[in-house]
Amino acid sequence: MTALSLASIATCCQQLLREFPSQVFVPGNSNYTAIETSYWSLQEAALQPACIVVPQSTQDVSRIVSLNSHHGCPFAVKGNTHAPAAGFANIEHGVTIDMTGLQSLSLNKDHSVIRIGGGANWLHVYAFLDQYSLAVAGGRNGLVGVGGLTLGGGISHYAAREGFTCDNVVKFELVTSSGVLEVDKSHELFRALKGGSNNFGIVTRFDLRTFAQGDLHISTSTNNISYFADVAKQFSKITDAKNFDPYTSLVTSVLLSGGSWSIGNSAVYTRPVENPIVFRDLLAIPSTKNSSSFQRPYIFANETNTPPLNWLFLTGTYGVSSELMVRMFNILNESLYNFDSGSGLAVWSLTFEPLPTKITNFGRGSNSLGVDENNSFNTTRNKAITDLARKIGTQFNTAADSMGLLRRFQYLNYADTSQHPIASYGPENVARLKAASRKYDHNGVFQKLVPGGFKLPW
Ligand SMILES: Cc1cc2nc3c(=O)[nH]c(=O)nc-3n(C[C@H](O)[C@H](O)[C@H](O)COP(=O)(O)OP(=O)(O)OC[C@H]3O[C@@H](n4cnc5c(N)ncnc54)[C@H](O)[C@@H]3O)c2cc1C
Repeated sequence: MTALSLASIATCCQQLLREFPSQVFVPGNSNYTAIETSYWSLQEAALQPACIVVPQSTQDVSRIVSLNSHHGCPFAVKGNTHAPAAGFANIEHGVTIDMTGLQSLSLNKDHSVIRIGGGANWLHVYAFLDQYSLAVAGGRNGLVGVGGLTLGGGISHYAAREGFTCDNVVKFELVTSSGVLEVDKSHELFRALKGGSNNFGIVTRFDLRTFAQGDLHISTSTNNISYFADVAKQFSKITDAKNFDPYTSLVTSVLLSGGSWSIGNSAVYTRPVENPIVFRDLLAIPSTKNSSSFQRPYIFANETNTPPLNWLFLTGTYGVSSELMVRMFNILNESLYNFDSGSGLAVWSLTFEPLPTKITNFGRGSNSLGVDENNSFNTTRNKAITDLARKIGTQFNTAADSMGLLRRFQYLNYADTSQHPIASYGPENVARLKAASRKYDHNGVFQKLVPGGFKLPW
């Protein structure tokens, strides 16, 4: 950072302190420390902004953006901190704008739309909607932010019924570098924001379509790793079904912990149906542990927070094939066999999620994701581990490519910084996003002063 930008940041923080005396925190202050320790990953928490400002209204956000732009101060937009990569929602020596002061929730007259403050998390939303027996197609873990998840696409338990989370937005309130906009389907930024992450401004309100929702039926099972070929076969059968059951939400992971592998299945049915047929063959595979219950959506989303660790996500999208799943597991297992992880390595996980056309068709042509048919995975820590994870990702892609199953789409919310999820939306979507950026952020504030997150590929 140059002496000039350090001076401008000092000016920004001083000015912010003058205008928002009770909402700006500097190192040493207990609120500053509390916000820093709230980051989900250790690598984000390790960054030290010069000051953190917590706006309480759209007007506050607008004023803060305009002040930072005027003085040329680099800043980060912080939602509920679940993007693991350093610098996505925090910034060394810059200004971090913590959106969690904006958490208002209200329903419209006929309850068809909920207005959500840009800093809320999904648990706030689900707990509020539960009183009306309603839900929205939001994140599966309640602690994840509405902001980051929705602007990156958003995969919910309801995805096969309702599409990506972003496809359920009816209006965004957006603070751009030149003012506040109401962005609905008549506005060209409507499409840009669905997948465009923080490239266009700060969303201060998300208006989402609601739907009636009863209990979820939840089955979990843990299998010995020797059953992986059987699990892969059943996972593929469910994912590839001609008529993908729209009430299906499935996550299958292989997990290396304490030196041994296990398989975990989380099979959720979004209608209160006991033992849904769709999961029967998968759940019939011998398990070491299993459970099944009905739960209210907000109770199920209330997951225990993970311990603070370094985290790394990496994603890929592939055609459905149990053979490829087994090859991927073998690649991972062989790569880890001789790998000295040093002390502290906790967990490697390879997670498969179906992304059938039932999900992707909802927003085709009206979001920026440019996604065809697909599925994805994620993993963990430190330079050697990062290098290995990336190498394994390349090997997965090579294996998938050799089988004609490699897909272009990289899901932004699960992507690693070595990946290019926005470029993966395809040239037409990228061209549209760039044109929108030139028009609505003509000084490039959200490209140059907001370095965090996946930027447009110029
Ligand atoms: C435990 C866990 C569970 C997850 N579960 C799911 C899941 O079920 N489905 C799924 O699709 N993804 C899931 N994810 C991925 C998640 O969607 C992303 O990590 C997402 O970026 C988190 O958003 P956030 O607001 O919490 O994070 P942050 O780290 O605060 O923000 C992420 C990015 O979004 C930007 N941003 C946040 N709020 C705004 C705003 N209001 N305006 C403009 N930009 C903003 C930030 O600048 C940053 O670049 C999960 C992640 C974790 C760690």
